[in-house]
Amino acid sequence: MERCKMLIDGRWVDAESGKTFAVLNPATEEDLGQVPLGGKADVDKAVDAAIKAFPVWSEMLQSERSRLIYRMASALRENADELISLEVREHGTPIQLARGLVAGAADLTEYMASISRALMGQVLPKSLPNTVSYLQRVPIGVCGVITPWNVPIHMMASMVMSVLAAGNTCVFKPASVSSLEGAKFTEILDKVGLPPGTINLVTGPGGTVGEALASHPGVDLVRFTGSSETGKVIMSLASPTVKKVIMELGGNNPIIVCEDADVDKAATLQAQRHFGNSAQNCSTPGRYYVHEKAYDRFVEKFVGEVKKIVVGDPQNEKTTMGPMANLQQRDKVEYYIRSAVDEGARIAIGGHRPTTPPLDKGYFLMPTVVVDVTHDMTMAKEEIFGPAACILKFSSEDDAIAMANDTTYGLCAGVWTKDAAKSVRLVNQLRTNAVFVNMPRMMASEFTWGGNVKESGVGKSESMCGLEELTDLKLVCAAY
Ligand code: NDP
Repeated sequence: MERCKMLIDGRWVDAESGKTFAVLNPATEEDLGQVPLGGKADVDKAVDAAIKAFPVWSEMLQSERSRLIYRMASALRENADELISLEVREHGTPIQLARGLVAGAADLTEYMASISRALMGQVLPKSLPNTVSYLQRVPIGVCGVITPWNVPIHMMASMVMSVLAAGNTCVFKPASVSSLEGAKFTEILDKVGLPPGTINLVTGPGGTVGEALASHPGVDLVRFTGSSETGKVIMSLASPTVKKVIMELGGNNPIIVCEDADVDKAATLQAQRHFGNSAQNCSTPGRYYVHEKAYDRFVEKFVGEVKKIVVGDPQNEKTTMGPMANLQQRDKVEYYIRSAVDEGARIAIGGHRPTTPPLDKGYFLMPTVVVDVTHDMTMAKEEIFGPAACILKFSSEDDAIAMANDTTYGLCAGVWTKDAAKSVRLVNQLRTNAVFVNMPRMMASEFTWGGNVKESGVGKSESMCGLEELTDLKLVCAAY
């Protein structure tokens, strides 16, 4: 069994309380290890360390800081096997996907090292004679980084590396169920020789460690990804000290499949993508609105693809879908499936746990497709965040748009049509941060993510736009 520590001011320590908590393997429910149960006193020490480190880290030349970030990318590659193993054992990611995610985390880190050298201020137009005015780009300060459990290594790399690359120092709290991987990730970064206190790790529950970070007067910015409910709590805790919050929150993403779409392609590509990572992604479609004339064909093709998914032990090379990451999340998805059936929908495939050993243990749930769902059903209204797709019918373009926009979320959407004018019309009317036309979500380090539409978030993450959010522009006017 593994036992990890927290990193505070360059030293690996136990929690002040001396207590620990267990992390489980979601495929077997076995104990994987013990993690320090951090609390407010540990957060206070970590924030003090990050405040002390800020002048050292932020005043380093960007070229020098970038060199250290490049070294972190190499260190992630050199230690890939340990990260892959934790991604598989702690999150249940199928091993093939885990390899890609760890390689992607190293690539993202290199990308941050390179683009941070292009962070620029601006020279302003001349106003008075013999004066010069400019906007200097500066880091924000100490950042509290609270990561989610759903794509652990990707989110850790994306959120922590961007904060550091922009010249901020950081107190990092991973999701409790991903604590061992969070500790390994931090250990790998720390070994490249960062000034003590530049990155600090405090493990423990969101309700104590997360809230202590969000409300701490020494924290200047909170970078959070997770549910909209927790985002609202963080926003209110951050408000008495007027901290900036950058948050990527929930989604209930609509996909509109028009009558004139390539229906086979739409169903095939969407079904292939839908169940990756057990559909625990913020961008996973929450609702497929399919034109009534294309509905039966779409469902048939979609279900046909779902039949090809290999549910199994995430360590097995042939597995394409592992368990869900935790028990609460599986309970939640099962509730949504039950509620849809109670409200009159029908299960086309799945809807149950596997019963054959060894899959009768762990948090497995078969990939599920629920059809004849209507827009007023609970399953269509809320964020599912697990392996259950729900397919609805529409008859007019106006209805499709009205239903797609009838949600408190606005993360992303998809449109399938061969009619270019129609696609522009739909894209322009969809109230979301991103729209994918004739393709499922595509990811690249250069693409920004998130935004400010409804309750799906505040501020941009990823890419240059995300990096800029983690800095400020200081106005300097000087007379000579
Ligand atoms: P949360 O939003 O509660 O958890 C995400 C992170 O926030 C974790 O590190 C968690 O810590 C921490 N946290 C929890 N409560 C607080 C708090 N009061 N103050 C500060 N930090 C806190 O998500 P859940 O794990 O509860 O998942 C619930 C739902 O959230 C999912 O069903 C899904 O709908 C959505 N979600 C969306 C994600 C996205 O990418 N947009 C990612 C994850 C979830 P700890 O692990 O210790 O609880």
